[in-house]
Amino acid sequence: MTQATSRITAGRADLAAWKAAQPANFFRAEPLLAQTLSLVAPESLTPDFIARLDTHGAACATELDEAATINNRPWNLPRLERYDAIGNRTEEIENHPSYHDAGRVIYESGLMGELAHEGGLLRSLAFFTLSSMCGEAAHNCPVACTAGIISSLSAVGSPELRAAYLPGLLSRSYKTRLDGAQFLTEVQGGSDVGAGDTRALPLADGSFAIHGEKWFCSNAGADLILMTARYPDGPEGTSGLGLFLVAKTLPGGAPNHFVIRRLKDKLGTRSMPSGEIDFQGAIAHSVGPLRDGFKTVMRYVINLSRIYNAIAVTGAALRAASVAASYARHRRAFGGPIAEYASVIDLVAAMRSDAAASLVATLSLAPAAERAMRGTASADEQSFVRFATNLNKVVTARLAVETTLRGIETLGGNGAIESFSILPRLHRDMIVCENWEGTPNVLCAQMARDLHRGRIDDAFFAHVSARFEALSSEAARPLAEAAPAAIAELAARLDATRALPHDRATLAIKRLSVPLAALWYAAELARLGEHDPDGQKQPWALQAALHLWNRHLGPTVGAIGGDEYELARAVAAL
Ligand SMILES: Cc1cc2nc3c(=O)[nH]c(=O)nc-3n(C[C@H](O)[C@H](O)[C@H](O)COP(=O)(O)OP(=O)(O)OC[C@H]3O[C@@H](n4cnc5c(N)ncnc54)[C@H](O)[C@@H]3O)c2cc1C
Repeated sequence: MTQATSRITAGRADLAAWKAAQPANFFRAEPLLAQTLSLVAPESLTPDFIARLDTHGAACATELDEAATINNRPWNLPRLERYDAIGNRTEEIENHPSYHDAGRVIYESGLMGELAHEGGLLRSLAFFTLSSMCGEAAHNCPVACTAGIISSLSAVGSPELRAAYLPGLLSRSYKTRLDGAQFLTEVQGGSDVGAGDTRALPLADGSFAIHGEKWFCSNAGADLILMTARYPDGPEGTSGLGLFLVAKTLPGGAPNHFVIRRLKDKLGTRSMPSGEIDFQGAIAHSVGPLRDGFKTVMRYVINLSRIYNAIAVTGAALRAASVAASYARHRRAFGGPIAEYASVIDLVAAMRSDAAASLVATLSLAPAAERAMRGTASADEQSFVRFATNLNKVVTARLAVETTLRGIETLGGNGAIESFSILPRLHRDMIVCENWEGTPNVLCAQMARDLHRGRIDDAFFAHVSARFEALSSEAARPLAEAAPAAIAELAARLDATRALPHDRATLAIKRLSVPLAALWYAAELARLGEHDPDGQKQPWALQAALHLWNRHLGPTVGAIGGDEYELARAVAAL
């Protein structure tokens, strides 16, 4: 064997060892999920729930991962089949068998059924974290949409709609379950929902006929569609929108008076079909009071989707960090493992601390968000949830785009190869997810409007202050000491946006969004670091909090605590 050949063999063996080191169970490989659940809702961690997460973690790392890889291959993507064999119009989406394999793993975890019970949002999100480690996987967007239909029907749906659809929506059986889609966006604009011009015409029996066109229709083959449409004689803008439920088929099985024009050829989330749909008299039912359509969709659907979106991107970021860290351990360059290079350590540390922060913050927010939706939150808690949900959607998505990109950088050329790792697909999915449920600009514009209307930020800063004040360990001292001045500084900068015209305030808030979120994320990570279930403190989380602070808040309020490189080494844990 020549020298060159033995090097090639060794190089390939390193790659094989990296492949072999990939986790067989995401729940076990990512202890942060169980640690965060034990912090946020210790009562949820029953032996049965842990066993279900463990089973799901194994299924996601094996069956789901394989199915998602297969159903994302260009030749396996969903196709539109308009007619059946004898020429009846069906408007069916034809999916590769691996699409159904993925769906079975995701729905049979029972994540939708959790939403029937108080505290269920957090438990549903725990399952969703694990499936999101495989990227969109064809069903993650539909899961979020289905959750929105469950939430809105449970809160304001008529008894008939609830009885007809909730059992199917909550079902754990992939075969018999119902899934959902939500269509707001029209060709003239997605952010400007009030510009929508699809119409709902009343019918004699109290139902409506929908006419018009929706431009982005994800999960185009869904059993149930929740959509906005203008009710008759309503005002312009969002107040003239009703919210309607449309079943895919009419009794007898024919399509419900709609035509899918085509499926979109997308950058990411490619195995999940997104179409353009013409509604030509689709039979629909109002969900909640007709004139409250926009309020209903925001309160019960979009705010919830923003939290599912945050977990979808967090799962992808956790996976990217895990793939990159294991690669760094196995890949060698210039005679040693790349894990020993400071610049690689820096990449992995950033990935790990950003992904961890996104997870801990979003899961910590979930119980309060559920209370806000159920109407049992205090006024302060509602303000906190509104502010934090929008901020968190913006920042988790941004960090996930950056994290998946860092993952690609860590793998070098191999990072850019679709068949080599999940990273290119995760990165493409993240770019799409950043647009969903409100673009960053639009969410910052909403935050600007909220700030102009009142003191919504007080609840956010009070929450963050309380978290820092509760820290007591020596290791957390730099954070506890630096927090009051940082909070005062950011609160003052945010307050100053009130004096700006709305559009300029939007931009100023966008620029502040990462440091603001990092302040909160550092507080939640540090809280986890001091959490002590069974005498098991989480010192890594405290180090991650410091690391996160220095990268995202350092430039605004100053860095804290120890040697930057040593901190990165500890957080990268290579
Ligand atoms: C793959 C995919 C699937 C989708 N699926 C669905 C779906 O199932 N249902 C659905 O309803 N929608 C869906 N969408 C649409 C998505 O929600 C919209 O793309 C998004 O809301 C933005 O709307 P838009 O594309 O019309 O952009 P626009 O609203 O035209 O925005 C263009 C740019 O202008 C900025 N902008 C707009 N308004 C403001 C403002 N006030 N201040 C500052 N900047 C502003 C935006 O941030 C953006 O950068 C999907 C999109 C994609 C890519």
